[in-house]
Amino acid sequence: MDTPQLSGWLLDIQRSSMHDGPGIRTTVFLKGCPLSCKWCHNPESQKFSPQLAYFTEKCTLCRRCESVCPTGAHTFSSQKHSFDRNACIQCGKCAKACPSGALKLFGYQATVEEVMAVVRKDKKYYDASSGGLTVSGGEPFAQFSFTLALLKAAREEGIHTCVETCGYASTEQILTFLPYVDYYLFDYKLTNDELHQAYTGVSNQKILYHLDLLYTHHAKIRLRCPIIPGINDTPEHFAGIHALEVRYPDLCGIEIMPYHDMGKPKATALCRANEIEAATASQAQKDAWRREMARCGCSESILNSL
Ligand code: SF4
Ligand code: SF4
Repeated sequence: MDTPQLSGWLLDIQRSSMHDGPGIRTTVFLKGCPLSCKWCHNPESQKFSPQLAYFTEKCTLCRRCESVCPTGAHTFSSQKHSFDRNACIQCGKCAKACPSGALKLFGYQATVEEVMAVVRKDKKYYDASSGGLTVSGGEPFAQFSFTLALLKAAREEGIHTCVETCGYASTEQILTFLPYVDYYLFDYKLTNDELHQAYTGVSNQKILYHLDLLYTHHAKIRLRCPIIPGINDTPEHFAGIHALEVRYPDLCGIEIMPYHDMGKPKATALCRANEIEAATASQAQKDAWRREMARCGCSESILNSL
């Protein structure tokens, strides 16, 4: 297939992003991730296929969904709306018909050229701010051919490229991407490998190997560390973050990302269990983390990112 016509599964395209790499950026969120972090704040990004979310509290019982659904997945009795997820073929008709936003289909296909048509609209802002395109997820490496074609297309138009990754892919894929990625936002989730497996579904060994590999190849990497109360806010993990700071002095920074629980309503709407109890980190909690991180040797720049 012609590369501009290659299509990928997207969640969203966000223009004027200020926190997804240097400068002003357009962030393309892809669908699908090989990890299943129990604290994921974008649970709609984990599956590779489209998913219909049903936000019960927004439903006004107008029954328009029932009249357009080809499979009878929406039924009503005694002013109660039931949605049979197993009957849904993700056609999206009910989400289009719903007037209250109670139904939303997460995931759509777009070609490289369709995405680039959006990305290139802000070229002058990228040039003025040293910004560009960020491919995020989900996990960008998981849609290998599409992401590669998108990064190449951006580069051909002189647009700076950034990838936000969990680092979990094949080594061959990581090396294939290397010439087309200007900047990495690289997640570091848990130092203890047993806990990493329990909370993300995979070992951290390959991830750490890829971090080392990219660093050795002089890639520009900013480490992002989500901190989740009761899971990885431990001296062991804070010491692990400090150890990476010492080992990789030329990183473009290490950023602490305190947990917030905005993913929970989306998880409920997707019929996924809320897998952790944690609530959004409070200021007192962040202050305590700062003290503990300082005790574990973390630098001022890490502490100031909190
Ligand atoms: S997405 Fe399509 S099949 Fe699924 S519930 Fe809505 S209308 Fe029915
Ligand atoms: S169309 Fe939307 S608001 Fe109306 S009954 Fe269906 S889910 Fe509820």
